[in-house]
Amino acid sequence: MTIALAPGTDARAIQRVLAGLGLWTRRLAGAGGETLLEVLPHSARVSPDALREIPGVRDVFLPESPHPRLDAHPAAVRIGHVAIGPGHPPVLMAGPCAAESEEQVHRLAAAVARAGARVLRGGAFKPRTSPYAFAGHGRRALRWLADAAREHHLLLVTEVMEPSAVDVVARVADILQVGSRNMQNFPLLHAVGEAGRPVLLKRGMAATVDEWLQAAEHCLAHGAPAVLPCERGIRGWDRGTRNLLDLGAVALLAGERGLPVIVDPSHAAGRRDLVVPLARAALAAGASGLLVEVHDDPGAALSDGPQAIRPGELAEILRFADPPHPPGRGNRPRPLRP
Ligand code: PEP
Ligand code: MN
Repeated sequence: MTIALAPGTDARAIQRVLAGLGLWTRRLAGAGGETLLEVLPHSARVSPDALREIPGVRDVFLPESPHPRLDAHPAAVRIGHVAIGPGHPPVLMAGPCAAESEEQVHRLAAAVARAGARVLRGGAFKPRTSPYAFAGHGRRALRWLADAAREHHLLLVTEVMEPSAVDVVARVADILQVGSRNMQNFPLLHAVGEAGRPVLLKRGMAATVDEWLQAAEHCLAHGAPAVLPCERGIRGWDRGTRNLLDLGAVALLAGERGLPVIVDPSHAAGRRDLVVPLARAALAAGASGLLVEVHDDPGAALSDGPQAIRPGELAEILRFADPPHPPGRGNRPRPLRP
């Protein structure tokens, strides 16, 4: 943002006024001797109209946004019978990392529904680092997931990894998940957008917030009705946790941008003992929902066993998800109950 000053205005005095509002500025040489102030990164958000009211300010110019559709995205969205966003209780999305058998999916769907989840998660197509690791049961797992979700009045979120599979996944999923490894797979983002389903867009493990927002814009520009950005931890250097949960980005997207942010504490932590505390922290930072991996026998899980919590522990998370988010655009960090 650039602020143009009226001729003869004391720029330093205006800079002091702006600093009082949390706007840090740098003087630019304008054409014809005009004084321009460039607003620096990490400044507070103040509406341009409020700035135009300041005596000595001639005009305010905003750069063209690289994500106009995302800028207009509602803070709260309704997907089927579930509302996600400020003003609504946080939405718990839970289930196994991978759908392992029909029986397991039904058992876990029943358990997560009992614990208060509104959305069943589970992978039919799994991105795996090793080519020899279990990569999901594919199409038949989609059927297990769809049947279990319907039976327990849950929505279904499941990952799609390639454009050619979008149709088959979109036939059963209420929310299409784009995984961290695919956040900048633009043909996939376009195909997912064209499917016309809401997208849960995981943050790339080395993606900046800006890249993440622009990836969301790709989905919206290609027809997605809504995007739920999902923070799942970025790559850190410390191996104590699998990834580094970026709660600053959560607070930024939820509070400043007014987006319905989802947090996945499971992939962030990589270990089950940290999942509940990170989930609580995410809600305090303004997350509108949580995506949590659950298994009733984590030791026997075919993928991500160390980070799976047992269904009973889900209730621990929701105990702290009350009261519901305050209404209004933007979901500011709020205090936890003691
Ligand atoms: C998942 O949710 O199962 C998954 C693979 O997550 P991510 O893309 O965040 O690694
Ligand atoms: Mn997983």
